[in-house]
Amino acid sequence: MMSYPLTLTHFFERSRRLFARKTIATRVPGGPLFRYTYGEFAERTMRLAGALAALGVRRGDRVATFGWNSHRHLELYWAVPLSGAILHTLNIRLSAHDLTYIINHAGDSIIFADASLLPLLAAFRDALPTVRRIVVMPDGAGAVGSSGAAASVEDVAYEALVAGAEPVSGWPELRETDAAGMCYTSGTTGHPKGVVYTHRAMFLHCLAEAMADQFGISEDDRILHIVPMFHANSWCLPFTAVMVGADQVFAGPNPQPRDICQLIQAEKVTFTGAVPTVWIAVKELCEKEGFDISSLRTIAIGGSAAPKSLQQAYAKNFGVQMSHAWGMTEMTPLGTVTRLKSYMGDWPEEKKYDVFARVGYPSVGVDARIVDDSGKELAWDGVGMGELQVRGPWVVASYYDNAESADRFTADGWFRTGDVATIDAEGYVQITDRTKDLIKSGGEWVSSVDVENMIMAHPKVLEAAVIAVPHPKWVERPLACVVPKPGCVIEPAEIIDFLRSKLARWALPDEIEIIDAVPKTSVGKFDKKVLRERYKNWKPRDATANA
Ligand code: AMP
Repeated sequence: MMSYPLTLTHFFERSRRLFARKTIATRVPGGPLFRYTYGEFAERTMRLAGALAALGVRRGDRVATFGWNSHRHLELYWAVPLSGAILHTLNIRLSAHDLTYIINHAGDSIIFADASLLPLLAAFRDALPTVRRIVVMPDGAGAVGSSGAAASVEDVAYEALVAGAEPVSGWPELRETDAAGMCYTSGTTGHPKGVVYTHRAMFLHCLAEAMADQFGISEDDRILHIVPMFHANSWCLPFTAVMVGADQVFAGPNPQPRDICQLIQAEKVTFTGAVPTVWIAVKELCEKEGFDISSLRTIAIGGSAAPKSLQQAYAKNFGVQMSHAWGMTEMTPLGTVTRLKSYMGDWPEEKKYDVFARVGYPSVGVDARIVDDSGKELAWDGVGMGELQVRGPWVVASYYDNAESADRFTADGWFRTGDVATIDAEGYVQITDRTKDLIKSGGEWVSSVDVENMIMAHPKVLEAAVIAVPHPKWVERPLACVVPKPGCVIEPAEIIDFLRSKLARWALPDEIEIIDAVPKTSVGKFDKKVLRERYKNWKPRDATANA
């Protein structure tokens, strides 16, 4: 066979020829959607590549983005890697401290930033010695932050840059092992860690993601991009969408649940994805205001555990079967997707949803194993619980320039995910917790994810996060922080009663804190770190209770 490199160039060129009439749109606050065709997208992307060359971008240079989801961001997703440079998507929600570290560590040369986000960058721009230029993208939103405009002599405007550039006439020949993109994990300890994606990893990942047994993405889909384009490649969906020629809608600046409902309804979206917190809020709004989201054939849900009750509500109330997936920035990001096997179709409803509540079986291309503390591989029996380890063509081999993280990789070539899981005889993976989120009460392990999911099945509960708090007798005990649905009043005792028959005695929280909102991370997941800090000096009301 030919030695043909697996690069993103093939996807772009094929799409340019086959799908010129397909459409791309971006939500613009306060106005109609911006719309154009794949043909126009391809032409502008080739102009943008010409502009990158004129700005002195060379192979291997890191070109950063600091933006919301938009068609301009999509143009960068393609023009940068196809030019041989590396697309570095910056998480706009990180602190100035982390962003300064990340940009300097990556050595970014240019930052393409949305105009509304410039004030955030202005705060630490002087601390970025490698950044030669900031290119400003007009996103049509009001400025974020309060430190004033950041315009300076080196800033250039995106639209003028693209309009004034000569389009490239072709693309450089790339190796499939060349870097295409990079992304830093929203790491919880130490400095954020960089992951570099090769063209080959992205190419194979997109093929797998589109498979019928994964998300089944095809040309006749209309995809709404909600997952931020700085979170794990937006789960690679903008690449996969161009690969298949699907219509695409970008959620634009700071989308709120109402924007998402309106976009799904008006654009007849068939496929979208986001973290569970987004779907909890969208469900509430759809139930209250009756938005029509029946065009959806499925919703990818992942990034943290998707409660069974939430999945059941989407199926029952809106006729949408969610696709529960597990992955990581370090895995481009897809690892597993839940689908019922053909012979499970006539199982009783509850039993089927027990399967949907797991994160699915490993994708083609991903090897998975679970390993105990001594490094022994555990059986796939649904009981043995150990660290989930993975390997495959789109799994990180090492962090970028970060020798301290060598312990995340095993001597025999596997990546240690830091997730604790069981795998059953059918191959379905159940994520029990992050290693650091597990609760050890009197020698018994408590899965905070299990307890949270059970609490969120209570009809009056909107969100629940369970953390370990210190206990004089049991060392740690679970504390449940619960947010009631708007307009509902809930007593802690109601929740304890609701859980009593469902949980082992030691896993039953002794105490429930009713709170206004669960704090969220920069990518919208429950931020238990903040809760742990808030309750670190927690004194149990009854130190002899339970377990
Ligand atoms: P990130 O790199 O930000 O996407 O975070 C990856 C981590 O999110 C994983 O290691 C898991 O701890 C968590 N995660 C992702 N998907 C799921 C899921 N479906 N259920 C539970 N945890 C998940």
